[in-house]
Amino acid sequence: MERTLSIIKPDAVAKGVIGKILDRFESNGLTIAATKKLQLSRKEAETFYAVHSERPFFNDLVDFMISGPVVVSVLTGEDAMKKNRDLMGATNPKEAAAGTIRADFAENIDANAVHGSDSLENAAVEIAFFFAEKEIS
Ligand code: GDP
Repeated sequence: MERTLSIIKPDAVAKGVIGKILDRFESNGLTIAATKKLQLSRKEAETFYAVHSERPFFNDLVDFMISGPVVVSVLTGEDAMKKNRDLMGATNPKEAAAGTIRADFAENIDANAVHGSDSLENAAVEIAFFFAEKEIS
């Protein structure tokens, strides 16, 4: 049983597709072990994406992530990290396979609907960033 972190980004929240995206997870064998809607501060977004701080798109990414509320969730299940990445599709929605969340709900590489942890190590760090252990069931 693995755990991973999902974020429904501000574009998808604004579009009103929180329920449709959470349904993708549950319909594909993942359990929503915790979830909440929140507004990231600039400092929180910069810390969360610190690994990208030297990249040219960093400021745009932070601006986008604080442009509205997000929904953060802990997903659990067999192979949860990779399963979530597969359901999300490629980072650039134009390259995302048909039927993936990004192909169906994302506009472009800046506003690409969802985040998902890309390793189990990062998943543990990202889950602890948003949730206390007692909030996860
Ligand atoms: P992910 O794991 O698929 O989300 O992709 P990455 O970890 O590589 O990048 C994190 C986020 O930064 C992506 O989801 C995009 O929102 C953004 N991003 C990545 N690459 C680019 C890029 O080349 N240009 C822009 N504008 N944003 C990017």
